Parts: sequence; structure tokens; C-alpha cells
Amino acid sequence: MLDQKVALVTGASRGIGRSIAITLAQQGFFVVVNYRGSEARAQGVLGEIENAGGQGQIYPCDVASEADVKTMIETIVKQYGHLDVVVNNAGVTKDNLILRMKAEDLDLVLDTNLKGTFYCMKYAAKQMLRQRSGRIINISSIVGIHGNAGQVNYSASKAGIIGMTKSLAKELGSRGITVNAVAPGFIETEMTEELPEEIREKMLGSIPLGHFGQSEDVAAAVSFLASEGAAYITGQVLGVDGGMGA
Ligand code: NAP
Repeated sequence: MLDQKVALVTGASRGIGRSIAITLAQQGFFVVVNYRGSEARAQGVLGEIENAGGQGQIYPCDVASEADVKTMIETIVKQYGHLDVVVNNAGVTKDNLILRMKAEDLDLVLDTNLKGTFYCMKYAAKQMLRQRSGRIINISSIVGIHGNAGQVNYSASKAGIIGMTKSLAKELGSRGITVNAVAPGFIETEMTEELPEEIREKMLGSIPLGHFGQSEDVAAAVSFLASEGAAYITGQVLGVDGGMGA
């Protein structure tokens, strides 16, 4: 049994997940850095954690596979004895206007973002119910609240995450487990760097704080929700969007 608290961060090889993993390690968690394909980058994140005096491991798993998620969570519990925080961050986009959006584009995004979050919550909840403690933090998006042209599939997945968060908070509250969501606005990562300049400019104009967010801004919110100070907060959606959704 590991003395340190254990946190699993999905999609932690880059972007927002990478920052969350590093921040939770600084907070004292043993961090499982999950990724799908980018092994070298996940290894790099673990290297950063260890260089700063933290601890963790990398774990490859496609969150869209229920069997693989089950194995990942059972392996973590077997190795360390407990699972204290799960951050469901892994996510993909496949944008298009609806007339050009194929059913498989919808499936791809729902399978990873929505069903992946569902599988991780399900198998984490099994362990957290035994422990009678735990924190589940789901990464949604401002787009799941306000919508966005060209992202019918993605916004459905992110709105679904909010619905699941609120329902599971009600289901698990009596057992000392909290479930919350963070809804980032426009954060500078590989996911957003492909957007055309004109769309970036338009988005910038709609941000009251006048600048794009950084991965560290989202990590700070997640770190708070994972902390002792957030013990009485559940079923909430915390916007990290520079005021975009206000
Ligand atoms: P990103 O830079 O594209 O990174 C995505 C991460 O998810 C990578 O680590 C990737 O792993 C992992 N991943 C993708 N599919 C996976 C799967 N099936 N199983 C396991 N891991 C998988 O994205 P990001 O911008 O950091 O976004 C992180 C989260 O924040 C996503 O849920 C996204 O929807 C949400 N978000 C982002 C923004 C934004 O402005 N960037 C705004 C709102 C919400 P590999 O490297 O191994 O492929």
C-alpha cells in the first residue's frame, strides 16, 4: 500500500493533461500519466515530475476501450492499494459543419470524450466506494454549455460530461466522493493551434480578460478541486475561460 495519494490523469502526454499531471505531482500525489500513443512524450512528462522531486508512472490505455480502462484501474489499485483522484482529461475533436459531418466523426468523438469518461468514472467509482473517499474531476468545455458552429459532435460530448458529472455527484455524495467538472474556454494547446487565424482573432474578441488561457490555468482549477479545501464542493462546473462564458 502506497502512503502517497494516487491520482490518475487521462491524456496526460501533452497539453492540459500534462500540466495537470505536473501540478498534482507538485501537490504531493503519485501521478499515473495516461496516454494513448505518445509514449516518448508521456515519458517526458514523468521525467519532469521526477526532476521536480515528484513520483509517478506512465500507463498507455485507449480510454475508448472499456476493457482496457477496467484493466488500467484494476492494475493501479492492485499496485498501490487505492485510487484517490481521477481526472478525465483525454479528448479529441473532429470538427465539421453538420452536412459534412459523418456518423463516424460523431462516434469517434463520443467514444473517446463521453464514453471514455464514463468508463473511467465507472471503474474508479467501484474502488472509491470501497474506500468511501475520492475525487472525480471531468474536463468539459465552454462549448458544452454555449455550443459552437462546426462542433456538434464535440459539444454533445462535452455537454454529456456535464450531465454525467451532476448525476454521479448525486449518486456518490453520501459515500464521501465528489464529482466536479472544469469547463475551459480557449486554451493554447495543440488542439487549438490548428484553428485559422481569423477564428482565433474572433475568439480573442469575445474574451473579457483579453488573452487566451494556458494549460496551467486549467491545472490550477483541477488542483483546487483535488485539494482538501474543495471537500464540500460537488456537482459543480467551474469555468476557466477568461470570462468568455460569463
Ligand atoms: P491535446 O493537446 O490534443 O491533448 C490530448 C491528450 O488526450 C493527449 O495526451 C492524447 O494522448 C490524449 N488522448 C486522446 N485520445 C485518447 C484516448 N482515446 N485515450 C487516451 N488518451 C487520449 O488536447 P488539450 O487541448 O490538452 O485538451 C485536453 C482536454 O481539454 C480535452 O478533453 C479537451 O476537449 C479539453 N478542452 C480543451 C480546450 C482547449 O482550448 N485546448 C478547451 C476546452 C476543453 P496521445 O498524445 O497519446 O494521443
